[in-house]
Amino acid sequence: MDTPRYHAWLNAEGLPPFTAILPEDIEPAIRELLAVQRHRIGALEVEAAPTFANFVEPLEELQHRLSRAWSPVSHLNAVQNAEALRNAYNACLPLLSDHQTDLGQSEALYRGYQMVGERESETLAPEQRRVVEHALRDFRLAGVALDPAAKQRFKTLMSELAQLAAKFDENVLDSTNAWQKHVTDAAQLAGLNASILQRAAQRARDAGLPGWLLGLDQPTYVAIMTDAESRELRREVYEAWCTRASDQGPFAGRWNNAEVMQQILARRHDVAQLLGFRHYADLALAKRMARSSEEVLQFLQRLAEAARPAALRERAELEKFAGAPLEAWDITFHAERLQRSLFSVSQEELRPYFPMPRVLAGLFSTAEQLFGLAIRERTGVPTWHADVRYFDISSASGESLGGFYLDAYARPNKRSGAWMDDCIGAKRLPSGAAKPVAYLVCNVLPPAAGEPALLTHDDVVTLFHEFGHGLHHMLTRVAYPSIAGINGVAWDAVELPSQFLENYAWHPDVLAQLSGHYKTGEPLPAALQAQLIATQKFHAGLATVRQLEFALFDFRLHAEYDPAQGARIAQLLGEVREAISVIRVPAWNRFPHSFGHIFAGGYAAGYYSYKWAEVLAADAFSAFEERGVFDTITARRFLDSILARGGSRDPLDAFVEFRGRPPQIEALLRQSGMLSEADYAETSDRG
Ligand code: ZN
Repeated sequence: MDTPRYHAWLNAEGLPPFTAILPEDIEPAIRELLAVQRHRIGALEVEAAPTFANFVEPLEELQHRLSRAWSPVSHLNAVQNAEALRNAYNACLPLLSDHQTDLGQSEALYRGYQMVGERESETLAPEQRRVVEHALRDFRLAGVALDPAAKQRFKTLMSELAQLAAKFDENVLDSTNAWQKHVTDAAQLAGLNASILQRAAQRARDAGLPGWLLGLDQPTYVAIMTDAESRELRREVYEAWCTRASDQGPFAGRWNNAEVMQQILARRHDVAQLLGFRHYADLALAKRMARSSEEVLQFLQRLAEAARPAALRERAELEKFAGAPLEAWDITFHAERLQRSLFSVSQEELRPYFPMPRVLAGLFSTAEQLFGLAIRERTGVPTWHADVRYFDISSASGESLGGFYLDAYARPNKRSGAWMDDCIGAKRLPSGAAKPVAYLVCNVLPPAAGEPALLTHDDVVTLFHEFGHGLHHMLTRVAYPSIAGINGVAWDAVELPSQFLENYAWHPDVLAQLSGHYKTGEPLPAALQAQLIATQKFHAGLATVRQLEFALFDFRLHAEYDPAQGARIAQLLGEVREAISVIRVPAWNRFPHSFGHIFAGGYAAGYYSYKWAEVLAADAFSAFEERGVFDTITARRFLDSILARGGSRDPLDAFVEFRGRPPQIEALLRQSGMLSEADYAETSDRG
């Protein structure tokens, strides 16, 4: 009998054979895999004497196998979105969601974990006990205790939520891809740098047009906001960007996410109430480091009090500099000019000093020095695009630890932003072991012909950020898939490694390794480097207030949902802005309609996590500053207490083990210039 060709992918033991994953195979493959899983789970459900070895470990293996098969599909959908793949992906979402819910609501499995927890309470290792505790918690959060009708309702809600999230993403992607602007008069593009212009000219040539064709990809959007001298162009592009997937702007109503958002919020609220929570924010916090909604709101409030005076000062200074009241599409442009006048440095001028090969060498050597690693490129690995590279990561003594793909450049049909995701999860089970493999995805400007890609310093910081997530995934020493790497880590602590590593992209010693002019090899001149470092605190108040605006909007949206009124999206955003914002935003701005983090990603009632984890990251980094940023003892402790431990322990305990005390907010306030060195020295004496 012929075996289906997709078995090569479903049963792959090594890296996924990306080129062999065909859209038409995806649904049959996933159906077959789920049937096999159901059969095995059925056998475990009737296990009369469940133990960690005969019950929990096989379930961990099944989880590993499923995530390993699905990961490349979900990844391709994000980086290579095309209609056939999108349809296949969407067809699988309800299947996977139903499977997860059935698993989470199985009373037989729940009893099995309870029995293991009770009978082996004396003999389980701490890591194993954590696996069992997490599983029991997740069963409760999946509605294992509900009556059959409520269970069915929960299952329907979860399946609909998965599909709504995909729809949200599609609307954003389609409205982003649809926009373009043809320009034939060079004067309209005054101020834009050569690489953006080259890209736009190439686009025009590809479309058989003279002049330039602008798209709404992230590098182009950012470049226009930062540098386009034409206020009219800035306004037009700002409007296109901020009205994506909405009832406003150039495609008003065409891919409108308004109803999708309402439906998502209504269903999340229903899920929370089914499980006995006041609202979705409380449900989300059941798996977080923050203990209550009140604690989160107080935390955000405290940061707002520290940041708002600074933000108001910064805005006043900026308006004085610009000589006129500023609209939303003027802020970045004038901020960039003010920054240049203060520090005589600009993101665009820095590009030649940050060619991709040099940046990667500096990033890798930072990680190698800190954690005793060796990172080497491996060629000939099958990928999804010619630009994608693969790297092996091993210990200094040569032991293989894992690997990662790097997909760095912006291109059409690729989701915007930057992220790390797991391709293969780590495991060390009796059934076999697997080394962790990560995807690192960015959207930097692709290289011009014959030249290396040239990065802004913002791009460099983003790359460090994602690599920090990657290290969390790849340096894990946890044996069990459900708590290895970033799995099972409290979501508000998951940004700790990423934001921690960002600090290195600002450090003088690292900048010297990272930079080298792509023509001469000359590192970033000392004066320019000092100016760049000084910019770290530039407009920190405005940036913090903006992040707090997103965080408060997201959290209150989920905590104040009222079924009688539906989600008050626009009103609530208005209230939050009224309370803390310092920048005026036009009434037609529809930012929530493309806020994928909270509607399609994992950050629902969790956007505050960035600030929460930034406190942890700044405080952790301050331990390095005290002893030297490459201090090997401190780095070893960070690796042992936090990085390698995944979800195997409580994040607060892990932090205290590393730092010798609970986290303090002052390190972050100092880092962003909201607390003076003298005041910081006083607070840090407290021990
Ligand atoms: Zn991150």
